[in-house]
Parts: sequence; C-alpha cells; structure tokens
Amino acid sequence: MAFANLPSPHPHLLSHTPTQKVLVIDDVDMNATLIASVIRSLCEVQIAHSGEEGLRLALQYNPDLILLDVMMPSMDGFEVFQQLKKDSRTAHISVIFLTALSDPSSEELGLNLGAADFIAKPFRTPVLLARVRNHLELARQRRMLERMSHIDGLTGIANRRYFNVALPREFSRMQRHNLPLALLMIDVDDFKAFNDHYGHLKGDECLQTVAQTIAESLHRAADMVARYGGEEFVCLLPETDWEGAIKVAQDIQHRITRLQLQNDKAQAADILTVSIGVAAARASEIHSCQDLLAMADERLYRAKNSGRNRIVATNAG
Ligand code: GH3
Ligand code: MG
Ligand code: MG
Repeated sequence: MAFANLPSPHPHLLSHTPTQKVLVIDDVDMNATLIASVIRSLCEVQIAHSGEEGLRLALQYNPDLILLDVMMPSMDGFEVFQQLKKDSRTAHISVIFLTALSDPSSEELGLNLGAADFIAKPFRTPVLLARVRNHLELARQRRMLERMSHIDGLTGIANRRYFNVALPREFSRMQRHNLPLALLMIDVDDFKAFNDHYGHLKGDECLQTVAQTIAESLHRAADMVARYGGEEFVCLLPETDWEGAIKVAQDIQHRITRLQLQNDKAQAADILTVSIGVAAARASEIHSCQDLLAMADERLYRAKNSGRNRIVATNAG
C-alpha cells in the first residue's frame, strides 16, 4: 500500500474514520432511488432531484462524493459541476458523472472538466458498486493526507503550517464581529540543557507532554495550540480579551509546573518551566494579525530576558 509507511497520526486529532457520505443528483426519482439502494451498503446517501437542490445539499451535507446525472432540466450536470468547482467550499468533492449519454464526446468533456469518473446508464450494479467504493477510498486517503499535513509529527497537535492559515482566518472572523483575538507564545525554558542532560529521546517525550498539557488548558472549541518551532508553541484564542488570555497563560504555567519534570541543569528552576508572551486585541486596534504575533513574540522575549518562568503581557515601560 502506498500509504502504509506514513506515521500513524495522533489519536486525539484523527478520530476513527466517520461514515462517508454520497450525494446523488438525478432528476428522475426512480434512478436516484435505485442508485441509492445499490450503494447504501458503502455509505450514507442523500438524494437531490435537481441541479439547484444538488448545489444546496452539497454545501449543507458536505459529501465525500457526488454522483451527478448529466441530463437534467433547467441546470444540466456540466453546469452543476462547474458551479461546484467554482466554490471553494465544494471544489474538493469528487464527482462521478452518471449519464444515459454514452457518446464518447460527453464522456471526454466530463473527464476533461475534471470529473473523477464517468459511468454510463444503464449501469451494471457490481460495476457501480466497485467504482463508488474505489472513489470513496481515494477520498478517504486524500482527507487523511490533508489532515496529516496540518499535524505536527512529534506532538500530534497542529503544526505551524496550519497555524499560518488559522491566524488570518480567525483574525478576519474577529474583525467582522469586532471581537478580541488573543495569542500566547510559549517557549520551554532551558530546554537545550534538558536535552543535553537527559538525551534527545527524553527531550522528545517532554515536548509531547508539554503539548498535551497546553492542549488540556484550552477549553473552548475554537481555541487551538500549534507547535511553532522546536520547543515553542503558540495558542490562538478567539473571542478572548487580554484578561482572559492572562488567565489561560497562568493556567498553562501552573499545569506545566505541576508536572514536576526535573530539569537539573536549568538556570531558571530545577524543574521544567515555560515563559509566555501574551497579546490580545480587537482588529480595530491593530493593522494586521502579524502585529499580534509580533507583540506576543516581543513579550516572550522580555519574559526570557527578565529571568524566565514568567508571563509578560504588557509592553516595556
Ligand atoms: P531558553 O530558556 O532561552 O528558551 O533556552 P533554550 O535552551 O530552551 O532555547 P534554545 O533555543 O537555546 O534551545 C532550544 C533547544 O530545543 C535546542 C534543541 O536542543 C531543543 N529542541 C528543539 N526541537 C527539538 C525536538 O524536536 N526534540 C528535542 N528533543 N529537542 C528539541
Ligand atoms: Mg526555550
Ligand atoms: Mg527557543
């Protein structure tokens, strides 16, 4: 198997595979019902009876695969397909054209537009079943790869690539509603000493524990933590003001201290500690989300310079 060598993803980010969903779009109810009855053993099925309804359900239902009839009144399958591909929320969904048109030119057109496959009606049940199964498997692998590309391999939390996408997205969301957005930059203190003294393997385990501990301090669904670099983490806290962000930072600091992980060669303390830079703002108060990042970073830097094992949440002054 081509995917067998990939590391297995962290369980709390990749829960077991959910039931896959297929949307069947066909104006003739008998066709749609027949197709649904054939593939129901593989997946959950929804039926739409027109192109317009299909587009609506595709957004609402977020299927893994769409079986799309070509010949339909008012909006034909090719047009539905193009609308699906134009919308970033549906563009990733695989589409199989299902059509009575068995002429090669429409097959060519469908495939050239980017359809995953083309099945001519009347279809043979085992062939329909096999093709849908294969495309669902491809969709599952694609989804898994996409999720894995957002996950840090060592700790199982989000990686920096994911954070780089999430930060501007959350910033615009907060901007629309004029809500505050908070950011914590967290860096493990004297971690080089830890690694040098206890070894790289223990260092890795330690980073896993720290990541898990930070994740446990975040309670809202929209909160996220990412591994920003070696032993540096970043928390993104939407709808959180400065006071709230400080509370979360204190909770993280306490939880890390309570772990009582020995770090004998450290300067700051004899156990493992962290330094945290806190920044929070409404979009109206700053130019861009990069300002927030720069602020948190600057405060982390000052936490380090003023002795480590502390939280800095204001500018120097
Ligand atoms: P400070 O208190 O100023 O943050 O000092 P520090 O020693 O934590 O920071 P420094 O940047 O000097 O060193 C960071 C060390 O983190 C370097 C490296 O040994 C370790 N490190 C970075 N990434 C990993 C990793 O993935 N695994 C392990 N085991 N160690 C790592
Ligand atoms: Mg450090
Ligand atoms: Mg560092």
